[in-house]
Amino acid sequence: MNLGVQYYRPPFPVDTYWEADFAKIKQSGLDTVQLWVVWAWVESKPGQFNYDDYDRLVELAGKHGLNVVLSTIAEIHPYWIHHTVPDSEMIDHMGHKVISSNRGEIHFGLTPGGCFDHPGIWERMAEFLRQTGTRYRSAPNLVGWDAWNELRWNVQADGLVCFCPHTLAAYREWLSEKYGGLEGVNAAWQRRYGDWQEVMPGKTPDRPYTDMMAWQHFLTWRANQHGKRRYDLLKSIDPDRPVTVHAAAPSPLHVGQPERFFYAIDRGNDWFYADELDGVGTSSFPIWENIDEAAFGMRVEFVRSAARGKKVWLSEVQGGRSAVGFTAYKPVDAFSQQRWVWNGIACGADKILFWCWRNEIFGRESGGFGIAGDDGLAEERLAAMGASAAVIERHQTLIEAYQPVQPAVGVLFSPQTYYLNWAQEWSAKRVAGALQGYARAMVRRSIPYLVVEEEHLEVLDDLKVLFMPHVVVTSEATERALSAFVRRGGTLVCESECGAFSPAGIYRYPEERFTARLAGVHEVGRRNLTGEMLSVQTGGEQLTMGMAQWMTPWQPGQGKIWSSTRDGALVNEIKVGQGRVILIGSYLGEAYFEDWTPGFERFLQTIMLSAGWRPEIEVLTHQPGVASHVQGGSRDAFLYIKYGTALGKRLVFVFFPAGSDQATLRFPSGFFAGGKAEDLLSGRVIELQENAHGQEAVLTPLHWRIVVLAG
Ligand SMILES: [Zn+2]
Repeated sequence: MNLGVQYYRPPFPVDTYWEADFAKIKQSGLDTVQLWVVWAWVESKPGQFNYDDYDRLVELAGKHGLNVVLSTIAEIHPYWIHHTVPDSEMIDHMGHKVISSNRGEIHFGLTPGGCFDHPGIWERMAEFLRQTGTRYRSAPNLVGWDAWNELRWNVQADGLVCFCPHTLAAYREWLSEKYGGLEGVNAAWQRRYGDWQEVMPGKTPDRPYTDMMAWQHFLTWRANQHGKRRYDLLKSIDPDRPVTVHAAAPSPLHVGQPERFFYAIDRGNDWFYADELDGVGTSSFPIWENIDEAAFGMRVEFVRSAARGKKVWLSEVQGGRSAVGFTAYKPVDAFSQQRWVWNGIACGADKILFWCWRNEIFGRESGGFGIAGDDGLAEERLAAMGASAAVIERHQTLIEAYQPVQPAVGVLFSPQTYYLNWAQEWSAKRVAGALQGYARAMVRRSIPYLVVEEEHLEVLDDLKVLFMPHVVVTSEATERALSAFVRRGGTLVCESECGAFSPAGIYRYPEERFTARLAGVHEVGRRNLTGEMLSVQTGGEQLTMGMAQWMTPWQPGQGKIWSSTRDGALVNEIKVGQGRVILIGSYLGEAYFEDWTPGFERFLQTIMLSAGWRPEIEVLTHQPGVASHVQGGSRDAFLYIKYGTALGKRLVFVFFPAGSDQATLRFPSGFFAGGKAEDLLSGRVIELQENAHGQEAVLTPLHWRIVVLAG
C-alpha cells in the first residue's frame, strides 16, 4: 500500500526545487513519487536516449526514503517521428492526414503522433519502453510501472481516427477472425460484400448501426491489445514489479465525446486489461468534476469490479484546486480528500497517487492541481495526509491484507449497448446513466455490488441478483449465460427492450428476444411517456419512481404483476426454473440518475430481499432523523458502509454524512471476535452489545466523519 504523489512532467518542476520538495513530501507522510518518463523528451534525437534528469530524480527519491512509480508516456511522440517513419500519420474519418501538435498538458512532444498500427511506429515506441525498463529495473526504490497514462492515443486528433491503411487492415483481420472470413461477415451482418476492400468502418453516427458498432468494438479491442503489448514488454524486463495502466475514468464512464471526436470505450475495456495485466486504475478529480461521494464510491467500485482481485490503483486523485485556463475552480479541502483516501482503501486500493505536488506552470493547467499548491488549503491537506499516513503505517499489514466482501448482486455493463447508443447519438450517455443509476442506489444503500461485464459472466456463479440497466444489445453467448443463471436460481431484472438488438445492430421483434423465450411473454411495443411515475405496491409500502425514454408494457395476464398500465404490465415477475425474471417496461435507473427518488432504492432492496439477500450490517438509527437510512435520507446526506476481512479480522468502514455524528449499527452475532473492535482512526476500543439480534454499537466519528472498525 503506497500513498504517493505525481511529481515530474518534464521539464517541470525545474531541478532547483527537487531536493527541498522531496524532503517535504517525505515529511508530509507520503511515501512515493511518480515521474512521467516522456518519450519525446528522452529521445529528442533519434536513437539518443537521455535519462539524466530521471537518474537524478530516482536517486534523490531514494536518498529521502521515497519510492518511485514510473509512468511511461510512449504516446507523446518525438518531433522527428514522421520524418523518420514516413507515412505514419493517423488518417481521420474525412481521409485527411492528422496534423499532430503539442498536447494541452505536455510542454514538449507531439500528440497524437504516429499510428501504433504502423510497424515502424511500434518498433520505436517499444525501443523507448525497452530502454526505460532496462535502465530502472535495478532501482531499489522502484515500486511499479504505470505503463499507459489515461490510455491516451487519439487526443487532439481533431477528427475521428484512425482510418490509415494499417488500422483498416487490422480491422478487417479482426473481423475475419471473429466471423470466419468474409462469408462469415456477410452471414452475421446480412450483407453481400464481394471483397474485403468494400468493408469499411462506420463513419459517423445516425446511420445503420452495424458498421459503427463493429468499428467501436474493434477500437476497444485494439486499445486492449496495445496495453498488453506495453505490459508484456515491461514485464519481460522487470518481471517482479507490478505493471498497470489506468484510464481517465472507469470504462463504464467512457461514453464518447463528439466535440473531441472520442468513440465510446475507445481507450480499451478495464475488464480485459485486468485479464492480462497486474491491475487497473483510474484518475479522479472529484471537486473539479463535481463527483460527489456516491459517485466517487461508485467509480472506485467500477475499478474494483474490473480488477477481480488484481491490483486497484487510484492512479491520479485530485491534489489541489484544478485549473483549466482562466477559470478559478473550488479549492480542495482536507476533509473531502481524506474521505477519498479511505473510500479507496475500503475498496481495496493498493496505490493512491495524488495529482500532483506543485502547481503546474505551463499552458491551461498553470496554477492548478498541486496538493502543496496555493489554493489556501495546502497546510491542512498535508497535515491530514500525515495523520492518515500514520494510521496506514501503524496498520500496514492489516490494510494490505484487506479484501472487500464478496457481493451477492451485480449490475451488467454492456459495451455492445454503449456502441449502439453512440452509433445513434454520438454518446452512450443514456446507457451509462442507466448503469450509474443502479450503481449509485447500491452505494447509497451500502449494498455490496459487482459490475459485471458482458463477456466476463463467470462471476454470475456467486450472484443472487443481476440487474440489466438499459441493456438493449445481447449476444447469443450472453443470453445462454443469463438463461442458465436464471434456471439455476438467479433473479434477472430486465428493463425495456432488453436484448432488442443483436451485436450486429439488427433489431429483433419483441417475440424474437431471449426474454420472450425465457419468460413466455413479450413486450407489446413502445408507448409514449407523458410524465407519469411508476408506482409499485409492495408489503404495505407504496414505492414511486421515475421512468425514462418510453414505456414498453409486457403482455398482460401472466406472472406476478407488480405494476401495470392499460396495455400490460410495467413490472412483471415470472418464475423460470429455480429462479425468476423481473421484467420492467421502462428505464428506471436512468430516471433515478437524473432525478433522485428513494422509491427506486427501496424497489431494488425489495427485489434483493425477495431473492434471499440480507444486509449483513444494518443501520438502526443515525442522526439527524431516526431510521433515515431505511427511508433513504436526503439526496446528498446518506451514511454508507463498506466492509470485508483481513488477517482473520473484520474491517468495517463507516462514512457519516454532513450533519451526522452518531449512528447505531447492528452486526451479525459474533461478527467481531470478543465483542470488541478498534476504531483505527482514533485508536478507541468500541465495545459491542450482544443481544438476540446480534452485536450493536453506537458509533461517533472523530476524524473526517469516518470510523474504521477492526476486530
Ligand atoms: Zn492508423
